[in-house]
Amino acid sequence: MRIYNTLTRNVELIKPNEEGKIAMYTCGPTVYHFAHIGNLRSYIMEDVLEKTLRYEGYDVKRVMNITDVGHLSSDADTGEDKMLKGAKREHKTVMEIAKFYTDAFFSDCAKLNIKTPDAVEPATNCIPEFINMIKVLLEKGYAYQAGENIYFDTSKLDNYYVFGNQNEDELMVGVRDDVTEDTNKRNKNDFVLWFTKSKFEDQALKWDSPWGVGYPGWHIECSCISMKHLGEYMDIHCGGIDNMFPHHTNEIAQSESYLGHKWCNYWFHVHHLNDESGKMSKSKGEFLTVSLLESKGYNPLVYRMFALQSHYRKPLTFSYDALDQVAATYKKLVNKINAIPEEGSVDEAEVKAWHDKFAETVGNDVNTAMGITLLYDALKADVNGATKRAIIGDYDYVLGLDLLKAASSAENEAGAEDPELVAYVESKIAERKEAKKAKDFAKADSIRAELLEKGIVIEDTREGVKWKRA
Ligand SMILES: [Zn+2]
Repeated sequence: MRIYNTLTRNVELIKPNEEGKIAMYTCGPTVYHFAHIGNLRSYIMEDVLEKTLRYEGYDVKRVMNITDVGHLSSDADTGEDKMLKGAKREHKTVMEIAKFYTDAFFSDCAKLNIKTPDAVEPATNCIPEFINMIKVLLEKGYAYQAGENIYFDTSKLDNYYVFGNQNEDELMVGVRDDVTEDTNKRNKNDFVLWFTKSKFEDQALKWDSPWGVGYPGWHIECSCISMKHLGEYMDIHCGGIDNMFPHHTNEIAQSESYLGHKWCNYWFHVHHLNDESGKMSKSKGEFLTVSLLESKGYNPLVYRMFALQSHYRKPLTFSYDALDQVAATYKKLVNKINAIPEEGSVDEAEVKAWHDKFAETVGNDVNTAMGITLLYDALKADVNGATKRAIIGDYDYVLGLDLLKAASSAENEAGAEDPELVAYVESKIAERKEAKKAKDFAKADSIRAELLEKGIVIEDTREGVKWKRA
């Protein structure tokens, strides 16, 4: 398996610390709101990376944190307590909010066939671990107390900007007007490890610490939670490209200062999903969630396929037109699979040869688009039906598009029906479509009722009208 390593800026062959095993970490969601599909693009591509490693035979252990404390998106004493804001908005307690949106996140993941990591740890479970790491950083002289907060001293490191492409001037561009500089800091990029003094006196969750009652900074979470589950050495750390600076830079600074040795060898970053107006965010435009796509009739796996069709290191632009195209492609693909004859027995040698081809293709920096192309090649291959289905099932372990399942339900919908009935239902569907076009909704409804009387249920979806027996 080769991936682009942001640390070395090269595509590299992954050499794990321990033969045959991969220790992998993913920055988890902030749980005060639904995840938007841009965040989920990262989780889809990380899921493909994990599954490709498993597909190649690695024993993968993957860990994820849940950010359920603090200001969540900023290390600075600025902005607002988003958990508390969410709680006030919805008249719930902060922990109820965290639980609700954690469940919502994993429900979205399930719909997108994103595997739940082997260990999932909420930040609020690990306060003693955070305090311990901060104590050590103070003892080693990497941290200092100022204005009643504890800060990490970035000037103690020779190479704080590990990802190389940041400089002070570039960083200035990203500074928002409404963010005032924290005057306690010795250096511009010093970051808070523990707050006892915050601008928000109404911070909802606080814990006792050697430095007073307060709460942890954001970055400390990922360092401690990964070490709790994966130990002192990690192979692959994943996240959205947004997290590269300052979050991942700060994770490395504190982890390696604490450990006294290199921490993680490979950094995998997924690029942005944009909408047509630019970068997607929670604050502007339509808030795109999995539920919103479902309410518009899209199968969430069509969004997964949309993500797989482009490379994770390129920005991707979302539009409904593009998604419609993928929905049509998905439907055609399922129909093709549905049309594979039920014949012969599985030729294991062929399946193995196609398996190796797929591992090599997708294993080359997670080239999912080429993986899908290879799937089409397999559909055209000179092998029997049973072998074809076996290859598709094998590829779909990584692609996660439920292709065989979708094909078999498509088969149940129409394949086994008596042709006379199919012709009748289809003519009624066409008639209803005309009625709807003419805005004769009463007629459209009566056609639906007429079909229902005959035991046929119709359903309007983005991929057209579907029908089944009631
Ligand atoms: Zn993180």
